[in-house]
Parts: sequence; C-alpha cells; structure tokens
Amino acid sequence: MGLTAQSTGRHAADRFSERQQNHADYIVALAGNPNVGKSTVFNALTGLHQHTGNWPGKTVAGAVGHFHSHGYELNLVDLPGTYSLSTNSAEEEVARDYICSKKAHCTVVVCDATALERSLNLVLQVLEITPHVVVCLNLLDEAKKKGIHINTAHLSKQIGVPVVGTSARNGKGLDRLVQKILSVCRKEIPVHSYYCRYPPLIEEAIQDVLSHLPISEDNRFRALCLLDNDSQAVGKGEEEAAQCAARWQNSLKQNNLLPLCDTIASSIIQQAEEIYAGTVTIHTAQTDQRDRQIDRILMSRKAGIPMMLFLLGIILWITISAANVPSQLLSQFFSWAGDGIAQGLILLKTPSWLQSLLMDGIYGTLTWVVAVMLPPMAIFFPLFTLLEDFGYLPRIAFNLDHAFCKAHACGKQALTMSMGLGCNAAGVVGCRIIDSPRERMIAILTNSFVPCNGRFPTLIAIMTVFFAGLAAAPLQPAISALLLLCTLVVATCMTLLISRLLSATILHGMPSSFVMELPPYRRPQIKKVLVRSLCDRTLSVLSRAVCVAAPAGIVIWIMANITMGDATILSHCASFLDPFGRLIGLDGVILFAFLLGFPANEIVLPIILMAYLSSGTLVEYESLAALHSILTANGWNIITAVNMVILCLFHFPCSTTCLTIKKETGSFKWTALAFFLPTACGLLLCFLFTSLMRLIGFA
Ligand code: GDP
Repeated sequence: MGLTAQSTGRHAADRFSERQQNHADYIVALAGNPNVGKSTVFNALTGLHQHTGNWPGKTVAGAVGHFHSHGYELNLVDLPGTYSLSTNSAEEEVARDYICSKKAHCTVVVCDATALERSLNLVLQVLEITPHVVVCLNLLDEAKKKGIHINTAHLSKQIGVPVVGTSARNGKGLDRLVQKILSVCRKEIPVHSYYCRYPPLIEEAIQDVLSHLPISEDNRFRALCLLDNDSQAVGKGEEEAAQCAARWQNSLKQNNLLPLCDTIASSIIQQAEEIYAGTVTIHTAQTDQRDRQIDRILMSRKAGIPMMLFLLGIILWITISAANVPSQLLSQFFSWAGDGIAQGLILLKTPSWLQSLLMDGIYGTLTWVVAVMLPPMAIFFPLFTLLEDFGYLPRIAFNLDHAFCKAHACGKQALTMSMGLGCNAAGVVGCRIIDSPRERMIAILTNSFVPCNGRFPTLIAIMTVFFAGLAAAPLQPAISALLLLCTLVVATCMTLLISRLLSATILHGMPSSFVMELPPYRRPQIKKVLVRSLCDRTLSVLSRAVCVAAPAGIVIWIMANITMGDATILSHCASFLDPFGRLIGLDGVILFAFLLGFPANEIVLPIILMAYLSSGTLVEYESLAALHSILTANGWNIITAVNMVILCLFHFPCSTTCLTIKKETGSFKWTALAFFLPTACGLLLCFLFTSLMRLIGFA
C-alpha cells in the first residue's frame, strides 16, 4: 500500500478529463464506496442509464454526463466505487487522481446511511484533498427501516461541509443535493474543511513540507504523499518539498512512526469512529435479521448450490418456454414482410442477382438473428437482472468461492462468469473487479467457457431436436431447460479445471484472499429493471449482432452462390475441412460454419442448414421436426448432436470478445491464448467422446 499516484490511474483520470465537455459551467465529481447508489444518483441527475445493480464492483469504469440547474450547466463525472484513496487498485487510483487533479469544482461523496462509519473513512480522505465537498447521505429509507437515525446537521457541523440526506432510488432529497452542489461550485458556502489529526510529529512534518510546496493552500494530501517517500510522487517544482520530506522520513523512522501510511489510515479510522459515535443512533436491527434468515438458506453449505441451480433452472425454463411463440410470430412476420419487399424489388426491376443478395443474403440473415435471438434475450436478461437487483449475485460468488479457491482463482470470477452468460465481451470487461492481475487474467482467459446468450438458441435447438424432442410436447421446454442447465454446470466445471491448469502453469500462484461485502437484499425495481434491461442490454447486444449479421450475410451469400468448377465456394471449403471434421465426430460443414460464425455465434446453425440444403439462402426451419429431418438426412445422429453441443460450448470467442480481450490485456499473446484455449478443449473433447463411442461400438 502507498499513497503515491501511479501511471495507470493517471492515464485513466486523463481519459475522464478528455471526455468532459469543457463548455460546462461547473464540473462535479461523484465519489463513494461501491454499491452506495452512486450510479442511481448519477442517472437521476443526468437522465442517463448507467448500469445499476445490487452488488459492489459493477461500476468498473466511470461515466460522464451533464445536467442543467438554475441556468447552469454541470458536468457530472461518476468515479469508480472505492473504499479508500490509497493505491490498492486501478479504481482507487482513478478516483484519487481525479480528485487530486482539482478539475472538479465540487466533489460529491455518496455515503451509505446504513454503514456510515465506513463511508466516513472515504469522506475524511477526500477532505484531505479538497474542501469543496458535499456529502450525500444516500439510502436514508433503508437506514430508517433499520432503525438508524443520523443527525445530519451535527455531522455537517463536525466535518465542515454540507450534508444532504437522500433516497436516490425514490428521487428524494436530490433537489436539495443539487442546490448544495451549486452553492459549493459558486463558492457561496464558506469552506473550512475538516482535517484529520495525526500524531504530533506527523502534523509537524506536514506543516513543514507544506511550507515548501509551491501551491500549498489546502494540499495536505500532497504533503502526505511526499512524506510517504516515493520518488514518483514528486511533481514539477516540488523538489524542495521532497527534500524536506526526506529529512522528516528519517526523523519519523527514528521515532518508530513508520510505516506512515498505516499510521495515517489508523488515525482516519479512529476519527471516523468518533464522528460516527457522535452522529448516529440505532434503535432496532430487524431488517438485518431478515437478511440473515434468507442467507441461511441461499448460502448454506448444503442448500446453497442446489438453490443456485434451482433458480437458474427456473430462469432457463421460463426463457425457453416463453420464447417459442414470439420467435415463431417474428419469423412469420419477417417472411410476410420479406414477400412484400421482394415484390417491391421486382416492380423496381432490380437485377435478379441483386434481389437475391439483398433478400437471401442480407434480409434473410438479419431477420434470422432477430427472430431467433430477440425473444430469449428479452426474457433472460430481465429475469437475470431481477436476481442481480435483489442482491443474489455476490451470494453466488460466495457459494462458489471454495471451488474457485481450490482452482487457485478468485471467487469474484463467479460474478464475471455470470456477466459472461449475457455477453462474453461484458464478462471480460467485468474482470476488472478482480484485483490480483494473475487471477484477473485467468478470469479473462476462461470467460468464454461460459456460453453467452448468442449461443443459447443453437444449444436449445439441438437439445430440443435430439433429446427433449423425444418426450411429450408439454414436457419439452422443461427438459431442454434441464439439459441447458447441465451444460452450464459442465461449462463451470471446465472453467474451474482450466483455471487450475493455468494457475499450475503459466499463471502460477496461490489464490489471494477475497473480500466482498454482501449487500442487503433489496426489493427489485421490477418496472425499471424490465425497461432498462430490455432497452440497454437486450437492444445493445442485439444491435451489435445485427451489425455483424448484415456483412456476414453478404459473405455467406457470395460463398454459397458463386461456383468454382462443379461446386460452390462454401462446399469447397466444407469438403476441405471434412476429413478433420469426421475424425472428431462432426463434418466439414459444421466446422466451416463455426469459422464463418466468428463475427456472431448465432449464425452458425443457419449456415449449416444453408450448406446442407445447398439452397444458397438462409433457411428458416418451420418446425423442429423439419430441422431434425434435414440434419439426420445429412448424417447427424446423437453423437453428432453431443459433439455439436460440446463445440458450441467450447470454441473461440466471437470477434467482439476477442477485441475486448485485446483491449483489456493489451497483448496479442494473451488474446491468441484466449482464442486457442477453448477451441483446443472443444476439439479435444469431441475427439475423445467420438473415439470412446467408436471404441464401444456406438459410432
Ligand atoms: P453504485 O455501485 O454506488 O453505483 O450503486 P447503484 O447505484 O448501482 O445502487 C446499488 C443498489 O442500491 C441498487 O440495487 C439500487 O437500486 C439501490 N439503491 C440506490 N439508491 C437507493 C436508495 O436511496 N434506496 C434504496 N432502498 N435503494 C437504493
């Protein structure tokens, strides 16, 4: 631990600054511990839709928005959630460096009224840097329910800055918050910041170093950085102050007052405790008891994991059973609209090759992706977000922590896997919540072992056609959901295995301890969750898939329509891959479809059908029975279906995820490993399974 700024944080803080629009009248920074409602305050003030969720760590990158009040334009910079301003993690550095840069006219520290003591640590640290602060005491409604009363006037008097109570989720207190922010920005409130008291010798040293600092007004934090003895901390023109600090370091050492950062931290904690004791009174703690009772079931050793599987199974079952009808309706609608457009093209006397390219290539692929992807996503995302808003996600991490610890990885990886279920690219970005670089890399490399939403339709179709289809129709969705759940369990086991393998080899190391606060259970905001997860998550993932599907459609059309010799390019390529495909229990068409599906996983199955039927167009299978007969007519059996499921689970991440991995790791080497690792696992598993089946005479 140290108090010195490091380069990564500086760059990130600079990026924030770049994104600010300089024409605003005032800049306001929003700081706070994780999960205290910062994004909720940010969204309420700016009208934007930053992702909110009931677990600490979801805001791994900051955001910038703006709003107007009393004729002023204010830019609001949402900093990543941090518990302190030391340099333990990249988020802390970003937040600290931004506040230190003094670009903000006012810093709002959002505090959790139900855990004020912890929030106060951060408030006191921020006050060391700047006195232009407003404390936003959020979650007042929850504090009230828990019988916690906070004397805001007294608190404000103690720390010398305005304190405003809010319940941001209900919009309460936000008007007053904006008023206070404006008053601080316009310097209408006299600033007399609270400074922490340190042992006398440190106080003397601070004053001495301050007197040598070029800009010394209220910059005690700067003096503390220099005293903490790190050459990187010395800024331009601060050499004299650094020399003075060096002299003091010796004298502090002789007086056993080092390590300095520990002395500072314990002084701050002690003063936060004192302020808390004088401000807060607690009457009852009933809500905590209710949470503990729920935890006793959801996090128990015996019932925790079965409950987790049960909840996930229910979500999958609802997704599969409810997605069928809208999927069919969309297909019918697109085919009706397609007929109309085709008629229009004929009337316009468009050349037939162009008609085919537009309708069979682009329109066919686009509408397939929308009809197949939209319904399951529109059901799965909101349901999953409801669980997230309820506060269940960190409990999953807790339940799986033991398993991840055995794999020498971090329990938080369970959270990044959950995000990967929606979209692997989002899961890879989410890995920033893991502090240890080694464990973060393991989480990034293994994220695509969890199937993203784009792979669900293929998995569901194959499972329904070859396995669940054998049962009576009403039971089929439940059986498909159960099978999908089993594949997710297999994917999790594989993730653990590969994580262990990586930590025993190229990412050698022991698991670090994992501290994650369990948030209280909160009643999910059903309406908001439905609207936001539909508008933000579903539509953004869908629009990305659609953007990729259009050019992919053109490529597929060209390959399936242009002949070389006696066959199309598509079938030439498939024949080339066929011997290898047969070796691992698949065929050349399937392997080639996976390669062509690199931009978007959801087009793999339609390409397979297109190649089998040599129709040159994407196929809409009207019924599952039709799909079954097309596949079996092309040599598929149960073994092919199992191999298809294996390869769908374990193959290279899609192009967007690969780009994200490159961005997050900054290395082609790691991106290549993330590409080849799941592919090698998938191919090997297919080969082993097929060989075993051949050995016992099934293939
Ligand atoms: P952040 O991590 O600090 O950005 O926190 P979020 O804004 O994502 O909020 C964390 C959780 O607290 C979410 O489930 C919010 O709906 C909830 N929340 C935020 N503000 C309030 C509030 O004033 N009252 C209640 N009851 N819940 C809130």
